[in-house]
Amino acid sequence: MSDTPVDTPPATAIPVDRPHPVRALGLLSGGLDSILATRLLTSQGIEVECVNFHTGFCIQSHTAAIRNPKPGAPPPRHDALHAAELLGVRLHLVDISQEYVRIVTNPKHGYGRNLNPCLDCKIFMVQKAWEMKERLGFHFLFTGEVVGERPMSQRRDTMPLIQREAGVGGWLLRPLSALTLPETEPEKRGWVDRQALQGITGRSRKPQMALARQFGITDYPSPAGGCCFLTDEGYSRRLQDLWDHRGGVKEYTLDDILLLKAGRHLRLHPGCKVIVGRDQGENNFLGGFKKGRLLLRAKGIPGPVALVEGEAAEELLELACRLVARFGKGRDAEQVTMEIESDQGRRTRQVTPLSAEEIPKTWYL
Ligand code: SF4
Repeated sequence: MSDTPVDTPPATAIPVDRPHPVRALGLLSGGLDSILATRLLTSQGIEVECVNFHTGFCIQSHTAAIRNPKPGAPPPRHDALHAAELLGVRLHLVDISQEYVRIVTNPKHGYGRNLNPCLDCKIFMVQKAWEMKERLGFHFLFTGEVVGERPMSQRRDTMPLIQREAGVGGWLLRPLSALTLPETEPEKRGWVDRQALQGITGRSRKPQMALARQFGITDYPSPAGGCCFLTDEGYSRRLQDLWDHRGGVKEYTLDDILLLKAGRHLRLHPGCKVIVGRDQGENNFLGGFKKGRLLLRAKGIPGPVALVEGEAAEELLELACRLVARFGKGRDAEQVTMEIESDQGRRTRQVTPLSAEEIPKTWYL
């Protein structure tokens, strides 16, 4: 009797030019789609490594870490790192935030519903991944994209455009939708078993959840959860406001986009914005950005920390102090002593907190 295991394919089934091992580089957000795309390839013996790009707008890496956790909520985690651990693949964490500024401020293909330049973003990330593929000796790229899942970057007509503009030709595989797409080079060459891939399309996540069950994957972020602040309406409004009040110049620093993630933002005047912390975590966070700004807090009364950005003429400062006093425990007091801290030192000011009616809704960004 032969010693050959029954599931070993005959040697002739292996294409002669098949590298060993076949090495693939995938984009891993840590969401269910990218987890499944990775598992579809590792389960057929392909050696996979993944890359996660930090754009500066990633939600998971900041919000969860800044705000006080809700009672009983799991501790904050980095979804891509967690997914890589679950999948047993190496993860490259790559910061593209500096170069990414031009993608956000001047997207060739425009924005989605908010200030999300999804198509340009995807093209840029695939280009960056391609550079890594060339440098690190991978044979092809893959993503967790699903045809028809998202209105801008995951449409049947935009997927070939991403390949074309990123200059990757047939070397980008989408394992979750592969059976509905033209064969890619690694499939044509027999490096990847096309029949073991999927033909998922559309917005429903049910097929992905069923596939996750098949793979025994249960620990993944909510499929509906976002991963990028640029798709958030409130965040985009605050970013647009920032541009509008800098003479319409579309630019930002990393501090700018970090501060847009924390606190209540109220514009009191075209030249003056106040950011008010919503919990102790945000108060501490805002305190770290006081250099070059004014920091306000009530003295001797629990309440928020606030930053003043822009002009600080005395009458605006008075208004800002009254506003911040309103958000603290002294809101019903006749007078509250506010501490004003600048790079030059500290001083105090007695103010009467604003009433709720004195805060126009239009101040809120
Ligand atoms: S949601 Fe954000 S990270 Fe994702 S493609 Fe769009 S812009 Fe890029």
